[in-house]
Amino acid sequence: MSKPVLNKLSQEVVNQIAAGEVVERPASVVKELLDNAIDAKADRIEIKVKEGGLELIEISDNGVGIPKRNLPEIFLPHTTSKINRIEDLNTLLSMGFRGEALSTITSVSKVHVISKYEDEGIGNIIMFNEKGQSDVRSAAKEQGTTVRVENLFYNIPARRKYLKSAPTEYRKIYELLNRYFVVYPNISFKLEKDGKEVLSLDAISKHKAGEICKERVAEIYGDDELVEIKYDGNGIRINGYSGHPSSHKSKNTKQLVFVNGRPVMDRGIMRAVYEGYSRYLPFGEKVNFYINIDINPELVDVNVHPRKEEIRFENPFRIYSAIEEAVKHALNKELSFQIDSTSSPIAQRRESFNSSSESKEYTTREIKFDKQYSSIKDSLLFSKEALTVSEEGDAIRNIFQIFDKYIVIEFVDERLWVIDQHAAAERINFEKIQKREERPLDIQSLLVPTSLIFSKEERLFLEEFKSFFQDIGIEYDVKEYGIDILSLPSVLSTANTEALFKEIFEISDNLDTLKKEFNKKKEDILATVACHTSIRSGQKLNYEEMRNLFEELSSCENPYSCPHGRPAIWKLTREKIDTNFERTY
Ligand code: ADP
Ligand code: MG
Repeated sequence: MSKPVLNKLSQEVVNQIAAGEVVERPASVVKELLDNAIDAKADRIEIKVKEGGLELIEISDNGVGIPKRNLPEIFLPHTTSKINRIEDLNTLLSMGFRGEALSTITSVSKVHVISKYEDEGIGNIIMFNEKGQSDVRSAAKEQGTTVRVENLFYNIPARRKYLKSAPTEYRKIYELLNRYFVVYPNISFKLEKDGKEVLSLDAISKHKAGEICKERVAEIYGDDELVEIKYDGNGIRINGYSGHPSSHKSKNTKQLVFVNGRPVMDRGIMRAVYEGYSRYLPFGEKVNFYINIDINPELVDVNVHPRKEEIRFENPFRIYSAIEEAVKHALNKELSFQIDSTSSPIAQRRESFNSSSESKEYTTREIKFDKQYSSIKDSLLFSKEALTVSEEGDAIRNIFQIFDKYIVIEFVDERLWVIDQHAAAERINFEKIQKREERPLDIQSLLVPTSLIFSKEERLFLEEFKSFFQDIGIEYDVKEYGIDILSLPSVLSTANTEALFKEIFEISDNLDTLKKEFNKKKEDILATVACHTSIRSGQKLNYEEMRNLFEELSSCENPYSCPHGRPAIWKLTREKIDTNFERTY
């Protein structure tokens, strides 16, 4: 065996490794260069792409430009004009801050930069490759910067092989660009693909960066069935648009989320949007949305993802509830406006929907609704179904049982729960018994008392703690042979009470210790009682039973474990499952 040798990696190799994180594919280069142009306050940006960005990515802006003396340094790792101290991150509103984009891009491609700084009379050009920089030379240029990236990953064949075909890489670039187009209506964009102009968007001057505007959304996505979302409060400003409930689809929806003008992925935000829709969308259906959240940069951490695609909020629930509220409000406003404008019919429909006995009138009125109103019809029709679950917060797409002991639930927002049915039932009953003072327990008296035989010592114990057991719904008379059970909490009515008591007696080494430690052991006793519930492992459950179990579990204070501490829910997401299969789409 050869001896291990410790190598100090050269900066070149370090950069190439880092490049794998920052520059995953051509679209990531486009993103970094766009971010730089936006940070330079450009309001005109041109993008040229050849061969899906593998041959060429060139981005020109009319921003402030780069001073001549800085040009040789912008390619150095960790060189940035945007922050100085780590605290600066707290007030950061720029897109970049790590100073690593240009240095990593340079390590995996041929880069030219031509720039003219606003305070200098002439422009300059500099060329870079992994070997080092060429001289800075004067060059004719209008104010702004052009960054030209050629031959991406030419020196990392393995990475190049991993890329998809040029058309697919181009599509990824195009999708990314569209996000920027939507959230920067103040910037005019031009896109050239393989030498041909494919898109030209004028700046919409009355809009600021981050103010999503209807015209752009319509221009880019052809989407005009939109409801305006607005919110301002608690230091959070939300603006944007989301699909009218009638525009729902089951797939291929655009769900764009921006935070301070930065495109991000955040499942919590998406979920919050759908919470807002919960009364208005049919089961499992989706809508497009385009939402920007402006928030004090101190309250978000943008430095949690190598490509800055994810962020972390200091208080995510405040954001989520603001979004949910904003969406709900927008929908209420939109739909009630339509209800008013047609006045009575829909209101009457709502009435007749509520009292199902008038279902005849309901169907005759239905004919009157044209396409637009069919959405309201849908929303009303579905609201009943949606309400029963969404009030607890989660809309279910699928629910079924496996191995007669686990319940699998697929939620519309791409989460998957596996619930241990017995652990869940234990948790539910435990909390029911625990909270008996807030909500009285359901108790069943036994018509014919059940007699159980116990030893003298056990009888003494049962006598001593009779009132405790009575308090949790287990009532009995102590006899000379044992006990006669008179009533049980209904969650226990089918339980084997003899086994239950035997287990309670075994909580401590012996009955004497159990007596002494009774107060300390009360929770354990409750857990043991809760364990003797009607739902056990190995038992087939029907749909209704599964739904009830899920809903009751969801409203538990601590749904995640059974009272003995075993997990009750295993939470998965489509993302986690995809990752497991090394799927990236
Ligand atoms: P970061 O954006 O994190 O600062 P980059 O490596 O992307 O790091 O860029 C390094 C620096 O180069 C920036 O901080 C900025 O000063 C300068 N720069 C890059 N692109 C541009 C541009 N288009 N216009 C003006 N300055 C730029
Ligand atoms: Mg940058």
